Formats: sequence, C-alpha cells, structure tokens
Amino acid sequence: MIFGRRKPKPIVIPTKPVKEWKLATCNYCSTGCSIEIGVDESGRVITSRGDAKADVNRGKLCIKGILEHELFNSPGRGSQPLVRTRFQDEFQPTDWDSALDLCAGKIKEIQQKHGRDAFAVVSTGQLLTEEFYTLGKLVRGCIGTNNYDGNTTLCMASAVSGYKRSFGSDGPPGCYEDFEHTQCLMAFGSNLPEQHPIIYWRLKEAREKRHFPLIVVDPRVTMLAQFADIHLPITPGTDCVLINAMLHVIISEGLQDQAYIDAHCNGFEELRALVADYNPIQAQHICGIDEDLIRHVARLYARAGAAMSIWTMGINQSTHGSDGVANINNLNLVTGNIGKPGGTSLSITGQCNAMGTREWSSCSGLPGYRLLERPEHREEIAKFWGIDPEFFPQKRGLTQTDIFPAIESGEIRGLWLVATNPMTSMPNLGRIRKMMEKLDFLIVQDVYEDVETNKYSHVYLPAAVWAEKEGCHTNTERRVNLTRNVLKPYADSKPDLWIFNQMAKRFDNGRVIHFPETAEGAFNEMRELSKGEGRTLDISAMTYDKIEAARGIQWPFREGMDGLRGEPRLYTDGRFQTADGRANLIPVRFRDNNEKPDGDYPFWCNSGRVVEHFHTRTRTGKIGNCNKFSPTPYMEINPDAAEELGIEHMSYVRLVSRRGDAVVLAQLTHRVPRNMVFIPFHFYDCVNRLTLGLLDPYSRQPAFKQCAVRIEKVDQLEAARLNRERRAF
Ligand code: SF4
Repeated sequence: MIFGRRKPKPIVIPTKPVKEWKLATCNYCSTGCSIEIGVDESGRVITSRGDAKADVNRGKLCIKGILEHELFNSPGRGSQPLVRTRFQDEFQPTDWDSALDLCAGKIKEIQQKHGRDAFAVVSTGQLLTEEFYTLGKLVRGCIGTNNYDGNTTLCMASAVSGYKRSFGSDGPPGCYEDFEHTQCLMAFGSNLPEQHPIIYWRLKEAREKRHFPLIVVDPRVTMLAQFADIHLPITPGTDCVLINAMLHVIISEGLQDQAYIDAHCNGFEELRALVADYNPIQAQHICGIDEDLIRHVARLYARAGAAMSIWTMGINQSTHGSDGVANINNLNLVTGNIGKPGGTSLSITGQCNAMGTREWSSCSGLPGYRLLERPEHREEIAKFWGIDPEFFPQKRGLTQTDIFPAIESGEIRGLWLVATNPMTSMPNLGRIRKMMEKLDFLIVQDVYEDVETNKYSHVYLPAAVWAEKEGCHTNTERRVNLTRNVLKPYADSKPDLWIFNQMAKRFDNGRVIHFPETAEGAFNEMRELSKGEGRTLDISAMTYDKIEAARGIQWPFREGMDGLRGEPRLYTDGRFQTADGRANLIPVRFRDNNEKPDGDYPFWCNSGRVVEHFHTRTRTGKIGNCNKFSPTPYMEINPDAAEELGIEHMSYVRLVSRRGDAVVLAQLTHRVPRNMVFIPFHFYDCVNRLTLGLLDPYSRQPAFKQCAVRIEKVDQLEAARLNRERRAF
C-alpha cells in the first residue's frame, strides 16, 4: 500500500516583489536578531526575513520577528497628539507644539508647587539607545527630577544589582558563543524556547554538535525542562537554598578552584562559613530537591572543565532576586567559571534594549554606567553637557516600583510614561489603578493610542514604531546592532528622539545643552563618553557603518581595535570593576518572606511568557497570527488538582487572591505540580490583579512569581461574555 499523495503538491509561497532589503534589529526580546525588511517598488513594506549574515540568528527568526513588519500598519496606532483636562473626558486632537507646550507648562507648574521631584518619568526597555541617552539628558539635565526610572525594574533590576555587588559593575560577562565551549549548563528560571527562541536554537545546535549536560531549575516542567538532562522542580523562591547547598557540597569536597579564588576574589571565608549551614540533608526539605540530586549536580558543575549559568525572571522576579544573582555569581567564581570560553554567569535580558537603557538612559545614574553618587562622574557629565554639576542630585531617586506608592502618598503629582503600560504590567493592579486616577497630570507617549494606561492620561503623544526611526539596540551578549530607518513615521506620529529634543527646547538647560537632531549625532556623543582607561562599556571604535557591516559588534570595542569584532567576554584577566579589582563573594542567607499557599489560598500562582506574545500584547495582540495562536488568558492546572475541584479542561474558573480576582480558561497539564497554577502575564486585567509583588530590598524588583490563590467555579456563559469583552478591548 502506498501512503501519501502520488503526485506531491508542495506549498508554493509566491515570490514577493522586493526591490530593497533594509536592515533592522528585532524590537521584541533581547536575543538581538537581525531582520531584513523587504520594501517594494513603491516603498511599501511587504515582507521580512532573518539576516543570514548576522552571527546572532544566522537567518532565523521566531514567530514574533517574522511578523514584525506587520506592526507598521497595525490597528490602534496613534495618529496625532491628544489632550483633555480630566482623564474621564473625551480626548481632543491637537498639534505637536500645543501638546508639548502644555506638557512642559504642567511639568514646571507641578515642580514649582511641589518640588522638582514631584514630577516623575518612567520609561522602558523598548526605545533605541540614542533615544535613551537623549531622554536621560532631558530628564537629568533639563527637567531635573530625580524620580526617573525604566520599566526594566520589573525585569532586569536584580541582574544589574547582583552584577554590581559581585563584579563592581553591570554588564553580562559572557556570550552565546559560550554554548559552543561549555561542558555543563545550568538554567535557573529561564524557559528559553518560549522566551528567547533563537538563543534556545543556538543552545540546541551547540548540544547537537557536542552533547553536554543541561540542568534546568524551574518549579514548572517548562519547554526547556523537557529538553533537559536533569530537571530540578524547585519549591518557588528557594533558589538561594539550592545554590548554598551546592556550594556546601563543592567546598566540603574540595571541588572549588582555590587558585582562582585566591587570586581574584574577596570573601571566601565568610561564604564558606555561611554555606556550612546548608547541608543538603536539611536543604532538601526547604528547596524540594532531594539531597542526592543536589550533590550530583554540584559535582557535575564543579568538575566540568567549563560550566555556565543562565537565568531569567525565575531568579530576578523574586524578593531575593539580587541575592539570587549574587549567589549564581558565587557559584561561578568559586568554580573559576568567569571570563573563560564556556564559563560564565549570563543573565538573559528581557526586553530588546533593556541593555541600552541600563548603559545610557541615566535612569539609575548618569550615562555610560556612571553614578550620581560619585562627584567626579557628576563633574564629567556636567562639563560634557555644559551645565552646572550642582543641578544633578547626589544619589539615585525612586525606582519605578517606589514611584507608584509615592503617587498614592501625594509625594508625586505628575508622571510621564514612555512606551510602558503599567495598567497591565505592574503587580496588584487594583492599587495601581487608584494611583493612576490620583495623578494631577499624566503624559502617555506610546505607539498605540489604545494602550490600557492611556485611559488615565491627560496628554497622549503618538510615537513612531521601531523601524520608522534609526538607532541601536544592545542585546543580551553586549552586542550593539543597528536598525535603519525603513519607513516614514505613521500619520503625524514622531520618533521618540524628536519628541525629547522638542521638549528639551522648552526648558532653560535645553537651550544650553546640545541635543543632536539625528540618532547618529547622539551615538557619536555616546562614543565620546565611553572612552576611558579600564572602562568595560567602551564603544568608541563603533560607527553605524561598521555595525551594519558586522551585523552587530560587542562592547568593549575600543579605539585602536582592528576589524569588526569587539571582546566577546568580560573579566578574562580576572580583574573586576571593584576598588581593588577583585570580585566579591557574597554570603546569601535565605529569608522566607514570600506569600505562600495556605488553607484559604492553597495554590502557588506562577506567571511567565508564551512564545507568541511580548509583554503586555500592546503589539503582538495586534498581529493576526500571534493573536490567533494565543488569543485568550488561561491557566495551567494539574489534572489531579482539577479533578479534586471538579474543574474540566477548557472551562472557565475564577482565581482569587488577597488582592483581587481574575477569570481564565483552565488547561489541564502535568507541566505544573498539584499545588501550582501558571498564567501567562501578557493579558490585560488578568494575573496582575492577583499578584502581590513584594520588592527585593536591593533592586526593588517585584516578586511576580510567588503569591497564593484559590480557585472558584464560575458561570460559564457569563465568563465567556467577559472574556469576549476583554478580547475586544
Ligand atoms: Fe525577535 Fe527575540 Fe524572536 Fe529573535 S528571538 S526574532 S529577537 S522576538
């Protein structure tokens, strides 16, 4: 018998009449894929493809990247500035000058009445780096509020904080090429195939060529866990206990790299004393991983010639995220796995340009990893910009997660949100909603007029989407890549750089500081500021043409360096950015401070991403196929727990926490343990109605992934109606 068609009819994809391919970098996740966007004879964007010459993605893209060109014409785009006196009123269209005059006037009025810091600015990880630098100049140099932060506090603040505490500076020390050299990889709370699909593809390819153990630490059987050699289904929030127990085994069995520790680290005796308390026999009862398995992975990791750790939000979004990062760094320092091929502590960044904002936006200090706390840094930047150094505050102000409570207390009266959507992304949304309603003045600057937070604004400023502008992103492995201007901005929307420049003209210092009109002009200022003996963040040898030719260059790339390749790794000489050049081993004691399941709320509520969507669906919710594959909020629940509660697959349920409730569809799966549900965080009015979001004491990042809920049955017809309404929003 013959199976299949006798005459095969392969699917034929019609050739698209592309006249020119233009280079862009994907504007979703931090992988940093290069995209070529195809433009036809009439200048219309008609398709896109992965760039085969780019080392990062080697011609591949995930579903989001391959459909990204559809953003140019997606629904809901803002076409002109809008204003209203009260957020309950109808918006009125206006022109740019009137809108910007109103904004500048209100900012000054609030600052005069209530002090400079009473107006806050919260940005994003989605702008281009030149725009971040310009926004920093505007906020630090002209507006002068110290309450300025990025939404990266929701995703990468703990990685930044942990790197600074261990190595004296931010900056991921490794690169994707390390997959090709490592002999053991441990992934903490990172589901690469869904979060960073092309990084996962690089890892998978490396393992297909040369198998090495992959150990995945995650309370859920994620897609990455399914591909792992060893899965450690850890109790939520106990990663410090697991790592301390691994360090206990490594040190008590003499498996540490003592020569590396002696030459390059401080604090070994303190760390040794602390981890002595974390015998795997006791630790197993806290972290939920049995003692033999702890010993096995500790030995495997320490005995590998080169071992590396990666992590994402499972570590960062925690009440001890910064400690978790410092402890991963401890593991790699103690085993001599920093700065060598295949040996590294590599945070997989969240947003496409979270690195760009960390490097240049001045959110947490001054441009180029400079600090407000250091007088010489304030002097240097003030001189470069031509203003009085006394204009700068002498220490960092509030983070995003502290700015919102300061609205509640009346300390902050006005807010400017740039490409961020707190009405979906912040924990405990019921409380955030009240804060938004309390603001005297709210500016929302976004590509989309229908972004949820815009319901509360007084002024809406329509921004251009990514490739309607020009500039750079920095990816997870410190690679700076370019996006060329592909199309003119939609309708009367404007590039963010233009908006910041125009706003600057309305402030006294804006007439003193030079604001280049082009992105390349701003980039050249950044290059100048990056020069300096011993600086890691050095981009002085980069130019747009070189970046385009190389399809991305990693920093440091110093003047005098030949070719088109920056340094792939940091700290290769064992010298760190601390005062004495040695890394800090930081003892991390476990603090059990999460909200945990109990009799009233018996389930852990865990959250994360799905591959089709990015963040709050502002963009992917508009892209037909992304939305078709993942159209509705759902929760994963273990079939045994579902049976006990009488919940059927694909029926609606209500989840209730101490903060609020949310209605979702139930998906029965063994991916989650019996006492946990998992909900994608992308959807409006969903998981963040439930979350508590206790803050990490160092990074101020919220613990999105650890809270307690109960499950109730709901009327199915009513729930379906609610769900339709939510999808129509
Ligand atoms: Fe874009 Fe990330 Fe997908 Fe690459 S992996 S195409 S950067 S979303």
